[in-house]
Amino acid sequence: MDLETIENHFDNDNKKNINNETNIDTVASTSLGSAVCETILPSVPLQSLETIEKSIQKKYRSALWTPFVKALKEFEMVKDGDRIAVAISGGKDSLLLSKLFQELKRASRTNFEVVFISMNPGFNTANLNNLKKNLKHLNIPCEIYDDNIFEVAEKIAKDYPCYMCAKMRRGSLYTKATSLGCNKLALGHHFDDVIETTLMSMFYMGKFETMLPKLKSDNYDIELIRPLFYVEEKAIIKWVRNNGILPMNCGCTVAAEKTSSKRRETKDLIAQLVKSNPDIKKRIIQSTQNVNLEKILGWKDSDGKYSYLDKF
Ligand code: SF4
Repeated sequence: MDLETIENHFDNDNKKNINNETNIDTVASTSLGSAVCETILPSVPLQSLETIEKSIQKKYRSALWTPFVKALKEFEMVKDGDRIAVAISGGKDSLLLSKLFQELKRASRTNFEVVFISMNPGFNTANLNNLKKNLKHLNIPCEIYDDNIFEVAEKIAKDYPCYMCAKMRRGSLYTKATSLGCNKLALGHHFDDVIETTLMSMFYMGKFETMLPKLKSDNYDIELIRPLFYVEEKAIIKWVRNNGILPMNCGCTVAAEKTSSKRRETKDLIAQLVKSNPDIKKRIIQSTQNVNLEKILGWKDSDGKYSYLDKF
């Protein structure tokens, strides 16, 4: 999940470590998956693998499968010859993403390969065992590899470990995926991660940018894709709860006590706004597709910074 886990990990303290040039993509991915460290408890006993898999194509088809396929098509995320590494953090988002890719492999005529990887940054035993149990039950053949990122992040950035942790986790996954011959790395960021990150960029970083559905890595020969771009978090929560799956929460052993509530606040604000305008999330996404450069004070690209006064 964490391109994935900036996820809640964006806080005031982190901001002290993140200057205004920091890429939102790094910021927003402090935790390879989702945003807020919350435990999601199942509402029913763990269902059979067959029931869980069927639910993706039947009960949750319109909420999960359809938006997944829409993002794949719209942003051309999967092509013939691709070898895709799906990063599993153990949270709800990456577990769903893995099952969606298995379904896609069965249903699609596109000739691609998929492998599942999970980096253990120093999870405690209970979390690690829960991850293994979920992988086994869900029939996800995943390679778990160790990378003592929690320990290193705490050592070199004791007070504000999240920024360092996020960077190292991303780098670790890129390295692992590349070593497995993959040309793409799929992360579990969902629709609400995108919305929240867009607003947080404005509120706390003073810039307008969003999480992109796919991007090329600057340092690795690999593309990062976010196939859950259009999948709403509430649908993922329903899917895990109603199938009896107990996903890992953040799993952090370093900063669980230090992270603050900026993402939570943003999430709550959006929920509040949705009450009076149910389409508000769609509008936020649309705003990232309809930037009017004639009605904006300034913008920048890889060549430099521009002001509307340049052409005044
Ligand atoms: S230190 Fe913990 S809370 Fe911070 S980014 Fe890493 S996993 Fe997330």
